[in-house]
Amino acid sequence: MTQPINLYSDTQTQPTAAMRRAMAEASVGDEQSGSDPTVNRLCHRIAELLGKEAAVFLPSGTMCNEIALAVHCRPGDEVLTDHTAHIIHFEGGGPAALAGATVQPLMGQRGVFSAEQLAKAIRPVSRYAPRTKLVSVEQTANLGGGTVWPLETLQAIKTTARDHSLAVHMDGARLFNATVAARVEPAAFAACADSVWVDLTKGLGCPFGAVLAGSGEFIDQVWWWKQRLGGAMRQAGIMAAAGLYALDHHIERLADDHQNARRLAAGLVALPHLRMELDAVATNMVFFEVTGGPMDAHALSAALEGEGVLIGAMDKTRLRAVTHLDIREADVDAAAAAVARLGERRA
Ligand SMILES: *Cc1c(COP(=O)(O)O)cnc(C)c1O
Repeated sequence: MTQPINLYSDTQTQPTAAMRRAMAEASVGDEQSGSDPTVNRLCHRIAELLGKEAAVFLPSGTMCNEIALAVHCRPGDEVLTDHTAHIIHFEGGGPAALAGATVQPLMGQRGVFSAEQLAKAIRPVSRYAPRTKLVSVEQTANLGGGTVWPLETLQAIKTTARDHSLAVHMDGARLFNATVAARVEPAAFAACADSVWVDLTKGLGCPFGAVLAGSGEFIDQVWWWKQRLGGAMRQAGIMAAAGLYALDHHIERLADDHQNARRLAAGLVALPHLRMELDAVATNMVFFEVTGGPMDAHALSAALEGEGVLIGAMDKTRLRAVTHLDIREADVDAAAAAVARLGERRA
């Protein structure tokens, strides 16, 4: 049987043969006591890449977000973030359950809000109000459509945050998609945040892990939470080796994913019963909307699965296709053709 064309997410990549070899050959030690040499190398490299003092290896991006919020905030403190943010929708209520934080959603454009919007949302110090403590930004903004925050916007956010003594956290699940698309150094984006992490399991194509970076003092606090939540590991160098391999081989190629996303979008834009904005396709995601016909987004997603194309429905009207390491030009052409065929059948 042929493999389906899996545009469901960039998390669905298979580790390559060369990555598996790097993992098999990794020298390892006890990560929990700081003596896994491969984990240490990965953390040093990412800290350096992001221009931060220190970094720590964690099992997932979700744990990076949740620990960072718990370190920045005391119970009752407030986090400001876009209304589409991963911490609001996909982390099991973690900010409330773990940090005890309350979240005020901001109405950004495609996941990006302005420094003016931020300034308006910051509460005056008052015993009636939660204490606004942290701003969180997603680079790229996932439910925003894979949007890249412009560097100037992030710099303005940082200035406003400083003026009000707020910390800035950057969810960099797809930070390298942003650096490649905008041709901005990772450290330049990261300089706008006090804490920042990158996911190894998205565009980088690793099977596991994420790395959270910040000041030495911040990372000391992170280690408490890592231990507390059971995120301290043993011979984790096997996993970190995949990350080191990906830093060398899977960053520049993200440009191919972006090209394929644009190609897919170009193939979908003129189809009947669909709506999408070509200029919203900034990185490796293509969001499109079903605007009529007999199928809603869920039905279209199910019908596509029957054609060997996996594209997730986000709700009744919207679908999201994500390009990645295992998707080639011919795959996106085939996917667009399948959507077109189903459209003709629906007409
Ligand atoms: C995937 C993702 C996360 C969570 O990362 P995991 O490694 O899947 O836990 C957080 N934020 C954003 C924007 C993501 O896309």
